[in-house]
Amino acid sequence: MAQPIGNHFLQIPGPTNVPERVLRAMSAPTIDHRGPEFAELTGEVLQAVRPVFGTTGPVVIYPSSGTGAWEAALVNTLSPGDRVLAFETGHFAVLWREMAEKLGLRVDFVPGDWRHGVDPAVVAERLAGDSAHEIKAVCAVHNETSTGVTSRIAEVRRAMDEAAHPALLLVDTISSLGSVDYRHDEWGVDVTISCSQKGLMLPPGLGFNAVSEKALRAGEKAGLPRSYWDWQPVLQANRRGFFHSTPATNLLFGLREALRMLDDEGLPQVFERHRLHSAATRAAVRAWGLETLCSDEREHSPALTAVLLPDGHDADKVRELILHRFNMSLGAGLGKVAGKVFRIGHLGHFNDVSLAGTLAGVQMGLELAGVPIDQGGVEEALRVLKAA
Ligand SMILES: *Cc1c(COP(=O)(O)O)cnc(C)c1O
Repeated sequence: MAQPIGNHFLQIPGPTNVPERVLRAMSAPTIDHRGPEFAELTGEVLQAVRPVFGTTGPVVIYPSSGTGAWEAALVNTLSPGDRVLAFETGHFAVLWREMAEKLGLRVDFVPGDWRHGVDPAVVAERLAGDSAHEIKAVCAVHNETSTGVTSRIAEVRRAMDEAAHPALLLVDTISSLGSVDYRHDEWGVDVTISCSQKGLMLPPGLGFNAVSEKALRAGEKAGLPRSYWDWQPVLQANRRGFFHSTPATNLLFGLREALRMLDDEGLPQVFERHRLHSAATRAAVRAWGLETLCSDEREHSPALTAVLLPDGHDADKVRELILHRFNMSLGAGLGKVAGKVFRIGHLGHFNDVSLAGTLAGVQMGLELAGVPIDQGGVEEALRVLKAA
């Protein structure tokens, strides 16, 4: 196949575009992971990553995908047969539930329509109904990457506090960390799960758990079998600047650089940029006369937008056409919305003009695929960008 000229537009909601600065940092020679230079790297990275989680506590880093970090959160805090409360917000919530069940947990899975986030009122009601405190953890996906819906974690926390329920709060921030305002400490989250290839602008390969004091204490009694995922050997080695097994050295070089970039821009500005790009994307979608999958104004994701196609139109055909004609990748519909939606990633290493180019490609693709849309979507998005 002939190589297309110009840059590929990687507009899936992860993996995202990796900045040149990060690529260059990762191309340095691999160093001794037990030497003094490595201890400095560990020290810098473990400090600098904390503000992104909104924590002053420990963050455990694994060479893993996000799925590994999910497993780590469960096996370090829970015991076989424990009940956990989880919510069907979309495809990733479904996958996390399946994992929990394979590990021997009993999941109370609250059904959902894939158009809303976790309902704090349901959290309150379920916990109030559990006076024996059998539910040991509430599991929530902060940003449902399959639907473009962001759950209101602060309100989930408030519901847990009002019920005076001791369950742990475990939150997946895999596609929100570094793109969406998030506060591990302030929101009383016990384990925040994330990974490298979405808002952190890195290639896949690093998994994260930010861990509260309460989660560490729960870990002392947690009975699920664990070895590779055990926090303790990592935390102990980290105190001396190392990891207990070979870390992903070059990805850590990349992480150091990506964290410097986030710090240079300033996290409030990073979050504002994502909110703006999300608003501009929605302006285009509305002007086209299409609908977003997210149907709650409070819950639109700053990181991505899932666009519903009218009945009779196949979203995967639109994506294929856009890939072939314009060399741009969009996210596929996953699970029960396969073929019905496509997803526009607007997270990570991204600016106004990248968004304008992305939306222009989407608009041309929709028209060429024969999807009936109204004119002027891109213009509406540009208007939002200019007004900012
Ligand atoms: C991407 C993603 C995952 C899975 O992460 P992997 O790195 O593919 O294992 C889990 N949850 C959410 C919300 C995601 O976006």
